[in-house]
Amino acid sequence: MTPLLPTEEWIRELPKAEVHLHLEGCVPHEMVRRATAPAGRATAPAGRAAPLVPAAPPTITNLSQLLTYLDWSCGLIDQADQLEQIAYAITTRAKHSGAGHVDIIVNPTHWPHWQHDLKAMIDALDAGLRAGQADHGTTTALCISIKRNQTRSEALELVDTLLELAHPRVAALSIDGNEANGAESHNSRFAPAFERARHAGLRRTAHAGESSGPEGVREAIELLGAERIDHGIRCLEDPQVTALVAARGIPLDICPTSNVVLGVVRDLANHPIKQLRASNIRCSLNTDDPLLYDIDLAGEYERVAEAFHYGTDELGEMARVGLESCFADEDRRFTLLKHLDDYLSG
Ligand SMILES: [Zn+2]
Repeated sequence: MTPLLPTEEWIRELPKAEVHLHLEGCVPHEMVRRATAPAGRATAPAGRAAPLVPAAPPTITNLSQLLTYLDWSCGLIDQADQLEQIAYAITTRAKHSGAGHVDIIVNPTHWPHWQHDLKAMIDALDAGLRAGQADHGTTTALCISIKRNQTRSEALELVDTLLELAHPRVAALSIDGNEANGAESHNSRFAPAFERARHAGLRRTAHAGESSGPEGVREAIELLGAERIDHGIRCLEDPQVTALVAARGIPLDICPTSNVVLGVVRDLANHPIKQLRASNIRCSLNTDDPLLYDIDLAGEYERVAEAFHYGTDELGEMARVGLESCFADEDRRFTLLKHLDDYLSG
């Protein structure tokens, strides 16, 4: 029997976490537009009609285009209060989607004004996140990310900086960027940084199986010691890697709309989430870059429910994976999982 589709309200209220969200994809376009104004770049010169900065974010269709846009847009953000506002708004949207906790990926290479003053950047984000927690009850953790095109020593340097700062808001080391660039195995280059992070007690998450195939997923697990895989969907191209992910219980942070927008899958109906779950792989739902795709977390649950006729059981299971795999502290995770149990049994 086909289960009844859960209502929009049920989905919004479902206790959940978001574990795959980039700060870079949370910069409001209006802020980008305003940031161009002081240099006179917001509008066209006199006599020309079209503004140089479009009224809406650009239409992104692939990963390299996305990364280029992020370098440009985040490069305009140079004030601490801008970072604070971006961070605070993440907690507001989380609240609206029923997310009690958010892990936020931050890649310093996209933020030239802050890359070499990470303490100031994290302090500014922390101020916004603290205010957000006070107002909305949403907890958050930062996952500071290496970019795939960085060197071994740059990656180690980033870890050393994080260990020196020992900021309580930073929970994890992450890696993202385009894995399709370059033929050499990128993962072996970053293994020492991840090992140092692990040794120091930082959690580890890695983008793989999006712009890389199943081998990228295997390496993220075996060489980087990733506890979670961001995307990971292409593990299905190799039955052995699929079995490895399932056997280790490594959760995949699935971002359905992002996968469609960036052309990783043709459309939502062809998204492999059903095959992944049927292969006993733990999957959570996430937005990746919500403001660029004009989506929110609850909306992703709705779209997936509709596409695959998922009922409350399936959505509850994916919410559970998100909560189990988030980097909130133990007490908080326990509390949120209890909320989920109560919600599902009530
Ligand atoms: Zn991502």
